[in-house]
Amino acid sequence: MAQDINPQLTLSKEEMQQYGYKIVDHIVAHFDTQNDKKPVALASREEMDSLLVEDVPNKPSDPNTVLDFVLDQVIPHSNIVSHPKSFSFVPGPSNYVSAMADTIATGFNIFSGGWAASPAAAELEIVTMNWLLDIFGFPTKKGGGIFTSGGSMANLTALVTARRIKCGQDFSKAIIYLSDQAHSSNIKAIKVIGFKKEQIRIIPTDLEFKISLNKLKNAIAKDRLEGLQPFCIIASAGTTNTGTVDPLDEIAKICKNEDLWMHVDGAYGGAAILGDEGKQLLKGIEKADSLTVDPHKWFFQPYEIGCLLVKDHNWLRGTFSEKPEYLRDVEGNESEINFYDHGIQLTRRFRALKFYMSLKTFGLDSFKKAIQYNLELAETLEGILRKSMLWEIISPATLGVINYRYNPIGKNLSEAQLDAVNQAISHQIVSSREALLVTTVLQGQVVLRMCLINPRTTLDHILDTLQQCELYGEKELAKIEA
Ligand SMILES: *Cc1c(COP(=O)(O)O)cnc(C)c1O
Repeated sequence: MAQDINPQLTLSKEEMQQYGYKIVDHIVAHFDTQNDKKPVALASREEMDSLLVEDVPNKPSDPNTVLDFVLDQVIPHSNIVSHPKSFSFVPGPSNYVSAMADTIATGFNIFSGGWAASPAAAELEIVTMNWLLDIFGFPTKKGGGIFTSGGSMANLTALVTARRIKCGQDFSKAIIYLSDQAHSSNIKAIKVIGFKKEQIRIIPTDLEFKISLNKLKNAIAKDRLEGLQPFCIIASAGTTNTGTVDPLDEIAKICKNEDLWMHVDGAYGGAAILGDEGKQLLKGIEKADSLTVDPHKWFFQPYEIGCLLVKDHNWLRGTFSEKPEYLRDVEGNESEINFYDHGIQLTRRFRALKFYMSLKTFGLDSFKKAIQYNLELAETLEGILRKSMLWEIISPATLGVINYRYNPIGKNLSEAQLDAVNQAISHQIVSSREALLVTTVLQGQVVLRMCLINPRTTLDHILDTLQQCELYGEKELAKIEA
């Protein structure tokens, strides 16, 4: 049926209701049944082209036809990152309350850039930011921060701030330090802000994947002797590969002695501070000048919400505030924060709302319990793998991450054979679509990596996947022995 041209882009009240209810029903069904689905989506460019490519639609279509097409043909072709067998990368466990909160924020299209446009949105960003400052031992009066699209933008925001405060206008001699296990978004951010390769020092890690303090100190000293200007150390608080936390207290000491900015990238692991193991490992995180955490990872938020915390909120304002004439009338007083002055974006969605609503609804104690469960689940798995004849631990359970490989006792496989077998196991399990379990490379070895931050993942889900891996492993061994 041909639709009328609709220049006001509206639906009738009844159409909106029916349309919206249908979407909610589908989302609820997804939350209810996702465990029974397969977490992996596989599709080639050709397949997606043939399904989705079309010319720009000049004429209107029936809204329900478009919606049904999306629900049937688009949404199923994505990995289910909140599936209990989605073990790879950093899963996105999410939660329903936050998903609905995002719907509210979008439905009301709240502009979360300046105080005058949305005082309550700005206030909720201040309030939730204070909760985070408190959780991480940052000062709540003086400290501050900003919600970003994710950890990458938080790291970028931090480095721009660090550079202004430590180097001012001239950063031609500035040098920045980070480990070979630091997240790639940091290097990206360093490039974005215009540093040359020669200004980056990638410090090797030790056998436990922590930054080598000795090599770090050597590098700083040598750079000083050459007349360069060391200005910032990026410490990892939970590397994505192994969950390893750099020695934060020692790095804080170096930063203090050398007058360097201490940025901690806790995008992955920061949330673990709510669990016992995390609290121990993350000691010293409160000494950072700036800290990235990523609520859309282990604080169970849907994409996109990252966060940068800083010791002094004036650092952000001093770095990002510009005063264009057309914003003259909306500046307000100092305490009424315009978040466009604290970061890169002017127009921003109301990200704080989902964090606020989910924390209020479930309570921080629920988050703590979930994170404690995740930490213990990884340790339980480590215990099981240690006692197995088939598996070898490559990096122990650390902040919910564990790396291991198939290496049956008595088979004496070469390193090349082990790499090939473990790659094949991962390949076959992903091809089966039963679990998302991919490899990483640690000290030159191909290993399977599990990141267990979904509170709905049970030990049975894991054992089920292990068993499947073992069958594939056996098959590969038989091929080698044949
Ligand atoms: C995921 C991650 C990032 C990047 O965060 P995004 O939200 O993906 O932009 C940065 N650092 C670490 C340690 C991460 O795990």
